[in-house]
Parts: sequence; structure tokens; C-alpha cells
Amino acid sequence: MDSLLAGLNDAQRSAVTSPASVLQVLAPPGSGKTKTLTARVAYLVAQGLRPWNIIVCTFTIKAAREMGERIRNHIGDEVEKKLILGTFHSVARRFLVSYGHHINIPKNFGIADTSDSKAIVNRIIKRRGYGADPGKTRSRISTLKAKCISCDAHAATQKSAEQQEFASIYMEYEEILKMSSLLDYDDLLLRCAELLKRRPECVSNIEAVLIDEFQDTNQVQFELMQLLAQHSKTITTVGDPDQSIYGWRSAEIENLNRMRKLYPETHVANLEENYRSSGAILLSAQEVIEQDESRPAKKLQPTHCSGATPILRRLPSAAAEASWLVTEIQRTKALTGQLYNNDDFAILLRSAHLSRHIESALGKAGIPYRMVGGSRFFDRVEVKIILDYLRVISQPDHNDAVARIVNLPSRRVGNVTVNSLLAEAETKQTTLWTMLLSIAQGNKRPETKLSAQTLKGIEAFVSVILESSRKLSAEEDRPCSLIELVEHILKNISLEDYIRKTYADEFDARWANVAELIAQAADFSATALGSAYSTQELLPIVEGIEQRGASGNEDVLCRFLANVTLASATEMPTSEEGDGTVQQVTISTIHAAKGLEWPVVFIPGAYEGSIPHSRSEDTDEERRLLYVGMTRAQSLLYISYPTKNSQREKTSLSTFLSPTSMIKYFAVRGPSFNFTTSQDLARILRRTCPTEMAMHEGCLLVERVEDDRWPLDGEEEEPERSFIDFSNPSSDAFPYNFQSKRRKID
Ligand code: ATP
Ligand code: MG
Repeated sequence: MDSLLAGLNDAQRSAVTSPASVLQVLAPPGSGKTKTLTARVAYLVAQGLRPWNIIVCTFTIKAAREMGERIRNHIGDEVEKKLILGTFHSVARRFLVSYGHHINIPKNFGIADTSDSKAIVNRIIKRRGYGADPGKTRSRISTLKAKCISCDAHAATQKSAEQQEFASIYMEYEEILKMSSLLDYDDLLLRCAELLKRRPECVSNIEAVLIDEFQDTNQVQFELMQLLAQHSKTITTVGDPDQSIYGWRSAEIENLNRMRKLYPETHVANLEENYRSSGAILLSAQEVIEQDESRPAKKLQPTHCSGATPILRRLPSAAAEASWLVTEIQRTKALTGQLYNNDDFAILLRSAHLSRHIESALGKAGIPYRMVGGSRFFDRVEVKIILDYLRVISQPDHNDAVARIVNLPSRRVGNVTVNSLLAEAETKQTTLWTMLLSIAQGNKRPETKLSAQTLKGIEAFVSVILESSRKLSAEEDRPCSLIELVEHILKNISLEDYIRKTYADEFDARWANVAELIAQAADFSATALGSAYSTQELLPIVEGIEQRGASGNEDVLCRFLANVTLASATEMPTSEEGDGTVQQVTISTIHAAKGLEWPVVFIPGAYEGSIPHSRSEDTDEERRLLYVGMTRAQSLLYISYPTKNSQREKTSLSTFLSPTSMIKYFAVRGPSFNFTTSQDLARILRRTCPTEMAMHEGCLLVERVEDDRWPLDGEEEEPERSFIDFSNPSSDAFPYNFQSKRRKID
């Protein structure tokens, strides 16, 4: 127990050991909320709660994994494995796998990811000749679902022709999902809530529910929390209203108050000190968040020295910005005597598309990087083909997956045919697979004439799927494993030839992705079959309600696919993380960087229209987003913007970094002055104001600029740089010395 509480400050310790059954921790970034939540889980176990009766919800899969690791350190491997720990979506899925039959959810239900849902909506819109944007229509549906408004309830209240048209699209969308035995991300939560309402016995054993990043929960998630804890009424949430950045996905900051109203006994705990960032970084972040005057005044309290002043940099173009950024990474590594490696750098973006120049600059410089929230491994063509085959084998009713692969590789079943069959299936409320099967079995179809070639193609496709399913099924003498199944598919569809022909120049890289997928499937099968994980997938047996059995390889396949699909739900990487042997710079959206931290953080593209984003209606949320980005940094923070955007239009610096209030935090009058041991230095800095500077090991870099104004107009050239060495800096001066894992500077 002592070791559990060691390393916590008083406020954290009293939150961890709080006797309150409902506890809400409200605290700013880097104050140890996640650390406290983790320790509380371990504390509850030490108090005698059984781990398999504890539910812990995190926002991303990566966060769940990291939390699992931290908890393991406290309570050991075996105990940690028994916790019901994951994202809301994955926890909900586990309940549906175990108990879904009580509300008529089929055993092998599939999960429709965002692109599947968009494709379905797109087809409905096209069929109806409805002039709306499929992406927006899908989000509109998702918003309603996040607010627990069903299609029937919605339809009943709609008056105008447009509203009714939309309501009927929503309804058709729901019918198609049902026909295809698919649940979309919102359904996982909604249906789980329905299950827990109808069969509260499912959670009769639950002793505690703990939730991280509570400020970004939406209405269904709030309801789920309530339902999961309906017997125990033991809840811990941690959150920070200043970091609420998912309003666009229907997150409701109001949930913080709602919780206190619903449970008047809620004990609220505050943590104050920041253990993550240097003082200078906190001051600059504070200055940004304080622009929101409606927010209650709260100060970030640093525990570390002030460190290096954050740098604000203006570059003539996005390409120049990218190459500056790469040079800065190399320079920081060199100047700090390799104190930092690639893993220590993160480049956080408002929008994923901003990564183009940065990726190419990193590529040219030979710096390895991992992308978070961008084009993902599982979205790559060759990987997606295999996954789609697996999806169809596991879940032949998945219309979109069937439509994507029926002609991949080419079987002479043209797009027109596929689309018309798909439309027919959806309007007749059957599935594409049922129709293809019937065609392959020789049933005549008066509706569409199919050429002999097309018929042959369809037969070939159907036979690949049937044969693979048979291999997997328990009726076989020896059902094949997941790996054997993947290999069987590869051979059967001659994927290697297809990739060689279609992507001749990129064959090696693409084939390597296929190998990577096989390796992942092997890994998954090993953990899924070999360890307690398989029991963990199903929930512990609870008296009074029957649990659905799971067995064999089909189940492994189903879980593997769910794992892959849920990984995309929160824009977090899975495979790209690599095996940990190669150190990589991280490129991530700010959204996906929530809760994480890096020694050095870059936020490029900080111009008006990018952040705040021109399409965003919520300026306060955009500001919080910048705040979340800035507070990811531990030691060094760089913010930059190009004076021209990718359309070559002139840009201006983000209003959040407006000159009058910000300059002192990014230039020379910041707290970093404290570290100046030389009077001269102070004089020089004052004279060269405005100046961009960075403190590095043993020397201070001053970038002198001629122009006195800020932001600097018309400056396209690299400003003159001069290095000032100064001997014997006080150890406090350096930003890195607070990191125990890092080498100290004497
Ligand atoms: P965010 O709001 O960004 O999610 P958080 O409040 O969850 O932040 P944590 O991620 O838990 O903060 O902690 C931030 C960092 O501070 C971590 O590296 C953590 O290990 C460290 N930390 C937290 N509390 C302490 C402490 N009492 N002593 C030393 N380090 C601490
Ligand atoms: Mg956290």
C-alpha cells in the first residue's frame, strides 16, 4: 500500500484513498489526474474489490493500454488482466458479445466503421436523389444517436419536407445496418445502454466504475456510466473542463455538473500542481486559455523550473515551415548532445492534412516517424482487402465489405453490376451476399441480365468465401487458425500477383504491409488463445443471467476484426507504433494527442483559418484545442505558421496567439529571464526584441530580426542567428533537468 501511495502529493493521495463512493476529480492538464485514477484502481483492489468487477473507461485504446501498464506495476499482471478496462466502445462491445442475445443482437455482429457508415448513407442519398452531403448527413445521424434520439422518435417531431426527408434517410440507414447485422460506433453504446436497462442483472456484480477524460463524454456515455454503476453507485471520474475538445462529436461538458446533480453525494477533489511542463510553457498556455473570459479563473502551478521560453516562428510557406521544423529537430538533438531521441518529439496538428510537407521533409532527412490519426495502416489498400475478406467470412451480411471485394482482384464483375445489385439488396431488404449466393447457385434473375463472364466471376467469389468459411468452421476435423485462414485467402485470390501488377513500383512496401498484418494476426491469436485474455473477453459469469458462449477460431476472427475496427474509432494507431526498437518522431492530430506528453512539441500551422478552423463554429473549443496541444509539451514548445497556406493565400497568425497578450511569453520578457546569469545577456535580449530564442545546452540561441514589429511583416528571409555561449549556467536554467528519466546537466 505504501508503495502505491508513494510518489503522489497530498491532494492526489487523498483523492486516491477518498472514502467517497462518488468522486469527481477536476484538475488542469499535467496535474496527475490519470495517475490518480490509476492509483485509485489499484487502491480499490487493495481494499478488497475484485478486479473483474471493476470497469475502467479511457478515451483511446492507447490510453487504455498505458493505463493497463501503470496498473500492472501496482497490482501485478494477473490481476490487471481481469479488470474490465478499455474505451467506452470496447467495454460496450464486451457486454454485447456476452449478453447481446437478450436484446436480439446476433452473435457475430460486425462493426461498421465511419467509412462504412458514410458509404451506406451515400448510397441512400444517391438512390433518393437527395442533394445533401453524405459526410454531413452521417454526422447528423451520429449526433442524434449520441443524444439517444432514435430514428422513430426523431421522425415524429419533424415538420418541413427537408426534415422529413432526412428523418427517412436516418430510418433507412438504421434498417440497412440491421439487415447487415452491423452496429456502428454509436450503436455499440446505445445498444449496450438498452441492454443494461432491460437486463440490469448483467451489471449486478459491478463494484466500481472509473472514467478518465470525463469532460469529453457524450450523453450516451453518461447514461452508460449511470447504468454500469446502477447497483454499486461507486463512481470515480477525472476531467478538466478546459480540455473539452470533442463538442463536435456531441461531447457534453455539462456532464460534469450533471454528475454532481445526479449524485448529490459527489465529493469533488482538485489537484493543482503541474508535473508535466516547464513554467514557461505553462505561462504561455495559461495566457491562451485565459482569453476565454467566461471561464473561472484558475492558475496552472508549475512544479518545474521555468525552462526555455516557447518559440513562435513565422515562415514564408508550409514547405519552409516543414524544413525549419526538421532542422530544429536535428539541431535540438545535436545541441543537447543527443539528450533527446526521435521518440521525444511530437508534431501536433489541427488537421491531419497539414502533415504532407512535414512527412516529406522528415522523409528526406531520413528521420523515422509514426502517424497518428492520419492514413492508417488498416486503411492501406492491400491491408484493407485482406481485412474485408475476413469481414465477409465472419459476417457475410456486411454489404459494403462484400461490395468492395467481389471484384478484387478483378473477376469481371463491374462496378455498375455491383452497385445495382447492392441497391436492389438494400431496397428489397435482403443482403448482397444472399443475392450473390443465389446467383451462384444458378437461380434465375429476371431483374438484371448478367453476362456469362460476370456470372463466372460471382461464382468464383462465392466459392472463395464458402471454402474459407468451411475451413474455419468447427465442423471441419481441424479448423484452421487465423493465420492459416489469412494465408489461405492470399493464395486463393493471388493477392501477390495483384499487388505486383497494380502497384509495380511499390510492391515491396505493400507486400511488407501484408507481412505485418500476418504478424499482427499471429500476435493476436497467441494472446487471445493462450492467456487469460480469452476469458477476459467474456465477462465474468453473473448469477441470474445467461451468458453467450464463445469458442474456437471463429470467435478469434471476430474479436480480431472488432479490435481492428475499434482502433480506428478514436484515431489512434495500432501497428504504426512499431515494435519499439526504432525511435520515431510522432505526428498526430491534437485531438488524438489528448492525455499524452512529449519532451518537445511542435504545433505548426498556427494561422487564422487553421486554428481556429474556418469551419468550426465554436471558437472557445478551438482555443481549448490549442491549449491541449501546448500543454502536451514538457520542456520545449515551438509554435509556427506559414505566411501562405496550401492554396497560396496569405495567412495571419492565429488570433489566439495575438501579439499584445502573447509576445511576452514567446519572446524575451518571459520568466526564462530568471535563468540569465549574465547582465549582458539581458541587455542583448532587450535590445534585440522581438527575438526568437531557445535555450539549449550551454548556449542560448538568439535569432535576431531587424523589424521591431510583431508579428513581423514582410520577412521572408531566414533571420540572422547568433549563438551566445555563457558559461556556468545555473542548473535550474535548463529545461530538461527535471526529467528523472533523462540525463541531468551539471
Ligand atoms: P492530462 O489532463 O493532460 O490528461 P493528467 O492530469 O492526466 O494530464 P498525468 O498524465 O496523470 O496528468 O500526469 C502528467 C505527468 O506528471 C506524468 O508524467 C506523471 O507521471 C507526472 N506526475 C503526476 N503526478 C506526479 C507526482 N505527484 N510526482 C511526480 N510526477 C507526477
Ligand atoms: Mg490524463
